Amino acid sequence: MTAPEKRRVLLKLSGEAFGAGALGVNPDVVSQLAREIAAAARHVEVAIVVGGGNFFRGAELSQRGMDRGRADYMGMLGTVMNALALQDFLEQAGAETRVQSAIAMTQVAEPYIPRRAERHLEKGRVVIFGAGAGLPYFSTDTVAAQRALEIGASSVLLAKNGVDGVYSADPRKDPDATKIDHISYQEALQRGLKVVDSTAFSLCMDNGMPMRVFGMEPEGNVTAAIEGKEIGTLVSN
Ligand code: UDP
Repeated sequence: MTAPEKRRVLLKLSGEAFGAGALGVNPDVVSQLAREIAAAARHVEVAIVVGGGNFFRGAELSQRGMDRGRADYMGMLGTVMNALALQDFLEQAGAETRVQSAIAMTQVAEPYIPRRAERHLEKGRVVIFGAGAGLPYFSTDTVAAQRALEIGASSVLLAKNGVDGVYSADPRKDPDATKIDHISYQEALQRGLKVVDSTAFSLCMDNGMPMRVFGMEPEGNVTAAIEGKEIGTLVSN
């Protein structure tokens, strides 16, 4: 008898999740995150898309006078630094890992090869996707949706800092904002709820990929989300 197939999920970690400060990444924060992921990766196949907003966001740099395309490439390179930091701490936490980059840099990461990524996942390795899509004008949220579709993940898990799901309005600005347990993509788009960018939302909507938006805090939430606990907000068709 063959062993039952493991669930496969795509976890999106924004650059903010890596902390900031003089080092760019906060080793204490990343190591805690890595321990949570490593614990869940024993029984779930985990692929990760990392953001890079703790280093650079192309749109912000271009508003300050840089060429947008070049600024976006800087943004993508920032995500690779986060990918390497996460790889290091995941390995310290006992997980086997591979980093795949959408921009060729063979000394530090494999190129993005979806079939190879799937093989790594089947072998129990955590696969970290860096450098976004390798294309300016994209966000890592959109890449999370695309990678989840391409590698056959069952859902996108979007870990957020400072907010524990989707709200009726921005909870930091509106005291009457209420948390939503389940919302459709169509309604989220119609109501202009800015949880992820609209390209990511539409890609998931058009392809029936569910998304769970949840808070990284308290400790244990990332493990719980990977293991399939119904925390935060479910966005689906
Ligand atoms: N980026 C890009 N193409 C991609 C993914 C990312 O140009 O496919 C650039 C873009 O400039 C973006 C930056 O990389 O602002 C960092 O990614 P993102 O803002 O999505 O990171 P997060 O907000 O999740 O930290």
